[in-house]
Amino acid sequence: MTMKYVFHFGSDSADGNGTMKNLLGGKGANLAEMCNLGIPVPPGFTISTEVCNHYYLQKEYPLGLEKQVMEALHKIEAEMKKKFGDQENPLLLSVRSGARVSMPGMMDTVLNLGLNDKTVHGLIKQTNDKRFAFDSYRRFVAMYGDVVLGLKPESEEEIDPFEELLDAKKKACGAKFDTELNAEALKELVTEFKEFIKHRTGKPFPEEPLDQLWGAIGAVFKSWDNERAKVYRKLNYIPDDWGTAVNVQTMVFGNMGNECATGVLFSRNAATGEKKLYGEYLINAQGEDVVAGVRTPEEFQNLKSNELIGHCYDELVEIAEKLDLHYRDMQDMEFTIQKGKLWMLQTRTGKRTGFAAFRIAYELAVKENLITKEEALLRVDPNQLNQLLRPIFNIEEKKKAIKEGRLLIKGLNAGPGAATGRVVFTAADAEEYKKKGDSVILVRHETSPEDIKGMEASVGILTSRGGMTSHAALVGRQMGKVCVVGASEIQIDYKKRQFAINGTVIKEGDWISLDGTTGEVIEGLIETSPSEVVEVVISKTMSPGESETYQIYENFMNWADEYRRLGIWANADLPDQAANAIAFGAEGIGLCRTEHMFFNGSRINAMREMILADNKTDRHEALEKLLPMQKADFIGLYKTMNGLSVTIRTLDPPLHEFLPHNEVEQKALAEKLNISYEEIHRRIESLREFNPMLGYRGVRLGISYPEITEMQVRAILEAACEVKKESIDVKPEIMIPLVGRINELKMQEELARTVANEVFEKYGFEVDYKIGTMIEIPRAAIIADKIAKIAEFFSFGTNDLTQTTLGISRDDAGRFLPLYVEQRIIPDDPFQTLDQTGVGKLMEWAVERGRSTRSDLKIGICGEHGGDPKTVEFCHRINLDYVSCSPFRIPIARLAAAQAALKEKQMQIPQFRIPSAEVAVSQPS
Ligand code: PEP
Ligand code: MG
Repeated sequence: MTMKYVFHFGSDSADGNGTMKNLLGGKGANLAEMCNLGIPVPPGFTISTEVCNHYYLQKEYPLGLEKQVMEALHKIEAEMKKKFGDQENPLLLSVRSGARVSMPGMMDTVLNLGLNDKTVHGLIKQTNDKRFAFDSYRRFVAMYGDVVLGLKPESEEEIDPFEELLDAKKKACGAKFDTELNAEALKELVTEFKEFIKHRTGKPFPEEPLDQLWGAIGAVFKSWDNERAKVYRKLNYIPDDWGTAVNVQTMVFGNMGNECATGVLFSRNAATGEKKLYGEYLINAQGEDVVAGVRTPEEFQNLKSNELIGHCYDELVEIAEKLDLHYRDMQDMEFTIQKGKLWMLQTRTGKRTGFAAFRIAYELAVKENLITKEEALLRVDPNQLNQLLRPIFNIEEKKKAIKEGRLLIKGLNAGPGAATGRVVFTAADAEEYKKKGDSVILVRHETSPEDIKGMEASVGILTSRGGMTSHAALVGRQMGKVCVVGASEIQIDYKKRQFAINGTVIKEGDWISLDGTTGEVIEGLIETSPSEVVEVVISKTMSPGESETYQIYENFMNWADEYRRLGIWANADLPDQAANAIAFGAEGIGLCRTEHMFFNGSRINAMREMILADNKTDRHEALEKLLPMQKADFIGLYKTMNGLSVTIRTLDPPLHEFLPHNEVEQKALAEKLNISYEEIHRRIESLREFNPMLGYRGVRLGISYPEITEMQVRAILEAACEVKKESIDVKPEIMIPLVGRINELKMQEELARTVANEVFEKYGFEVDYKIGTMIEIPRAAIIADKIAKIAEFFSFGTNDLTQTTLGISRDDAGRFLPLYVEQRIIPDDPFQTLDQTGVGKLMEWAVERGRSTRSDLKIGICGEHGGDPKTVEFCHRINLDYVSCSPFRIPIARLAAAQAALKEKQMQIPQFRIPSAEVAVSQPS
């Protein structure tokens, strides 16, 4: 028996259905599904993707295809009561591609197929419109010439030869627009096009409709392998062997007079998600006229009162509702009305904003009871939560700004959301402007811990250097600030207090706007509105009952918590950040970077004294000043976390980060410490490093200056005892950074345990505490079984682990990584989305080896990847206990963790197993 290659669809029935996307392509499957639902679809047939693959492998069509195509063609003829190639009543066809997933504009289409010098007269008879018939004919010849006969321009510079002939004709006729050419002129054009084809190809234009049909089918299959399509597939990880189907379908015309129209219709509002039909149409027009935007379409609701075709309105409403209900999701549909008869040309799942995505899924699950909450959870993209959690621009205003050429540059989108404010160049100015009530955007080459207060005072941060884990990116995110980093083309002149980009100069006090979701930097002010969720949860300026968005958010979060297995912890350094984290649902602190506490008020002086001390006694003295301050910080954190784990990391950054770098500040410090400027300068210089990120930092500091670790452990545990005394539960976890060798950890652990005993002796009671380490050096991951002999927990510091595994500096990567991503050398920025095939392997190894030594080893991640949905899914798969991320990303992580658990559950049910071809759409190595 020959295989079935051709699948008919037509009045009320089809050979295929909506589940057959792999075989029929997305378009073919949905057309078939609509027919099965009794929706009017112009009859046609789909040639399967298997034929495409056969064609590429064997260089010919499979046996039996021709017969099946002819049978399907006759079936359409019978249904439409027209004949292909008939002089009186010709059937005209469209031939289109249709892959499993939409590849917009990548492959070819031929319309009006079947026209020739004879059938065109049949079309005139059918329509009584000679101009229309010759207009369709000349379009067909040009399209056929371009697509099937290969006369399409290859580059943007080349002119389409048919366009050239058309322009010459318009000139000769004194016409400005195509529409001004009359039937005679169009007829002449057909002849001229054909002459040109003969001249260029050496062969006459094929008049025989069947030759045209096979030519077009072949061209569509060939277009699967054109350069555009190949590049698109590569970019989107679409396997080459998926192939395209070919859809051959009866032509219907929306441009045959005022009883005709063409339009698009959405079953729900794509911007807000509201369950209300939304659409547009144009009378007497073709689909491309709607897309081209030459004429302004009318609102769908107006169709109702149209005298000639108003009757199609109710039919369309019914169809839209039927499809929405059938697919249980918002549909994006295309329709054509030909001489008062409605035809549906396409339906697909509609693209939507984050607001719409959440609202639609929520309403389908809760109000309409059409999907389960599991389905609702899987229907939304966790990253789209950013739209609900961050300030947003007024969309129209932003569009206008871009149109006016106010887009200055695109940097890395490190902290999502919208911010608009006046530009300042120093942290101190940011605080000053803020005091005056201004909204500010801090612009720096890069930020450092010194800038923290200025960052806090700003609504947005823009840097010219640094990548996704630069200081600005990770601290900005932690504070919930809008942040664009690595905008390398801006030239900042701190002295002149301005920055320049492509000839535009932005001075201090000027307004700019940042879109942290896209990385766009725009000149001028663009109105923003705050997130309602934040207004309810964080600032408490709105009550839950006032915000529908909040209620939807809350529902999703509760559902997510029911399904997720991963714990969700937060990276938070200060009590207010911890409070935000709790409000967003954090279950612990996975990383408190203690260094961020040293910049408040006079603490920095004590810190500098400690660093610059040239003997132990002086250092001790300085540390004695720091101890009560740190202790107070930790008390604040413990109280806020109220019995949840608080993981506190001992000092990590290179010491020079705490020191002043310009002469004025160094002189001031010299005076304060009563040391000569020359001496201060000499000591600071001696701390300078070529590669500070790979230098004197992390555990190496604790080894060289054990008294620092000693002070910090004392502060951590004394604070814990103080809090416990107030009958508040505490769970401190002491974390040693950048460990690569067992002895490093051992020395710090012994020191910490000695201090712990002293503290407990002093207080007369003990608190439970843990000592663990970050795994952020490949060597630590490799010897994880040995490290786990000492460490009671691991936390993957994937910022450093990525840097050290890939040999890519996290501070300098912003210069070239965007290019790598653009050229698809790598799929994502590895500092944003974990490199699962490289860094991920080390993590898997460390988890397995670590737990082989200590079965109850608690393992988490606290690098910036902890808030990235793809990474969260990976962390679930490798069985981490928790992910830790900045407070504003906690809801995203909660949702991503639930999705990971649900996907795992689905994979255990056979019908949900992804077919092997689709598995290929994964990360390249
Ligand atoms: C890390 O390296 O992933 C980490 C969390 O530490 P930091 O970013 O502070 O180096
Ligand atoms: Mg680190």
